[in-house]
Amino acid sequence: MRLTQFPLSTSKETPADAQVVSHQLMLRAGYIRQLGSGLYSWLPIGLRTLTKIATIVREEMNRAGALEMLMPSVQPAELWQESGRWDQMGPEMLRFKDRHQNDFCLGPTHEEVVCHHFRQDFRSYRQLPVNLYQIQAKFRDERRPRFGVMRSREFLMKDAYSFHMTAEDLHREYLNMREAYIRIFTRLGAEFRPVKADSGNIGGALSEEFHILAGSGEDLLAVAQGGSYAANVEAAETRPSGTPRAAASKRVEKVSTPGQKTCEQVAKFMDVPLSGKVKLLVVKAAGGGLIGIALRGDHQLNEIKAAKHPKVASPLTMAAPEEVRKVFGCEVGYLGPVGCPVPLIADFAAAEVADFVCGANEDDHHLRGVNWGRDCAEPETADLRMIAEGDPSPDGVGTIKFYRGIEGGHIFQLGTKYTQAMGVTVLDAEGKAVTPEMGCYGIGVTRLVAAVIEQNHDASGIIWPDAIAPFRVIICPIGSDKSAAVKEAAEGLYRDLLAAGIDVALDDRGNRPGSMFADAELIGIPHRIVIGDKSLANAQFEYKHRRAEKAEMIAASSAAVLERLAA
Ligand code: ATP
Ligand code: MG
Repeated sequence: MRLTQFPLSTSKETPADAQVVSHQLMLRAGYIRQLGSGLYSWLPIGLRTLTKIATIVREEMNRAGALEMLMPSVQPAELWQESGRWDQMGPEMLRFKDRHQNDFCLGPTHEEVVCHHFRQDFRSYRQLPVNLYQIQAKFRDERRPRFGVMRSREFLMKDAYSFHMTAEDLHREYLNMREAYIRIFTRLGAEFRPVKADSGNIGGALSEEFHILAGSGEDLLAVAQGGSYAANVEAAETRPSGTPRAAASKRVEKVSTPGQKTCEQVAKFMDVPLSGKVKLLVVKAAGGGLIGIALRGDHQLNEIKAAKHPKVASPLTMAAPEEVRKVFGCEVGYLGPVGCPVPLIADFAAAEVADFVCGANEDDHHLRGVNWGRDCAEPETADLRMIAEGDPSPDGVGTIKFYRGIEGGHIFQLGTKYTQAMGVTVLDAEGKAVTPEMGCYGIGVTRLVAAVIEQNHDASGIIWPDAIAPFRVIICPIGSDKSAAVKEAAEGLYRDLLAAGIDVALDDRGNRPGSMFADAELIGIPHRIVIGDKSLANAQFEYKHRRAEKAEMIAASSAAVLERLAA
């Protein structure tokens, strides 16, 4: 492409409203333009990279045996009513009516639609397994659209849905998709990590997310150092330590603690470590009433785990302070397990503390020297807390360290959740109707552009891996308006690289070298060839990789350039 025919809209100014570097650079390099909150258009240069990523995704999905199709963004409400999700989905789903007053939504995902097509066109076990995918625009009315295309309202997703006669076959395809995702993320040149995940409102059992590691990531990942365990902290399990609780050695003592309400205040006031305190949270119980959740003072509640506990109401709802006062007779800051008037469950770690400090269920008072089984009942235990840095890995190998990640993809085993709800069946070899098992597999194609930039940039701009650069190489002729030799060499090299199938840009705008180089660096072209009179006199081009400190001289031939690109 000649840059005279491919206008760039680059800018030196860092946009004030862009918080993360990928968003800043995508705006400065003229990749995207905002149309409205969470809505972005892709300018020609940006679309080149977006298309290259989509192509990698498509090639690997096809190679893995999935079949591409295309479904509409606008989806009839009836399908969502069938699955039961019309009422379950929150305001993230944009709903509207057509001129006949029929309800529709802008698809945030396509499980319902694909199940509908599947039940129309797939009748026999002979047609299974099948994996149907599309690369298509999704709409989610995100509460806080931010970071540009990283969390937008409309975005391009690759979503795949597989159907199987047995759970074993679903598991096989899940692993097949996992392999395909590893190939995709590797080809993007990104540092990534598959991690165990919570399946959220999509439902189902087994699921993993593929994260691009980056400090600006919105997700926190628990990764074992010296082990292989990795999970989104939301989903990371914790286990009992395996060492028995120390024996009780103290008497219970009531202490006046006026105004000391937080665990930190109490621990300091009573001169005990935070881990020597047990705190009690009170939430709504499943089937009505309240239930207490005991946690160690230094641990945080994992709301997802708590909401999944059979005795806890889902969604998790904290008891209001007035309700707590009515039942416990005190303020929230003074709750404890001794004489607790509601049922109680304890996190594994909280149940392991001996001689602990806790609220006395009386305003301005705490207890010290409390022991489970002596001063209050032995609690029912469960995994209820957030994993913490420094914890042993739940699989017993290594120690947990936290990383930040950007979720680029997510794979799920859904089981029969949707096929059952939507009455999907196929006939097996005996002619019996069977509800097929289903998997689903998403990749945020637009988000990946931003995620790769988060990992690959410097003070001058983006640094693309070759595979997804809008152009792999840029030719910068110096003074071509004055030198016929420079012009001829640049044109010749441009023709040869095009003929060799290389995505090449020729900066024929006649700009000064400094401004040409600044543009090439900002938009992130990995290879740069500078052609000037001086070096040509020595039969040389100047070559520089975007990551290299200094330029080097190579022979002034297309073959020498191609050799560099192949290196
Ligand atoms: P998140 O937790 O980031 O909101 P999600 O779990 O809701 O994402 P999925 O339903 O798993 O997302 O969607 C598949 C993929 O689509 C995600 O892995 C992510 O890469 C991408 N994605 C989801 N929401 C957005 C968004 N608002 N903007 C851009 N990409 C998104
Ligand atoms: Mg997800």
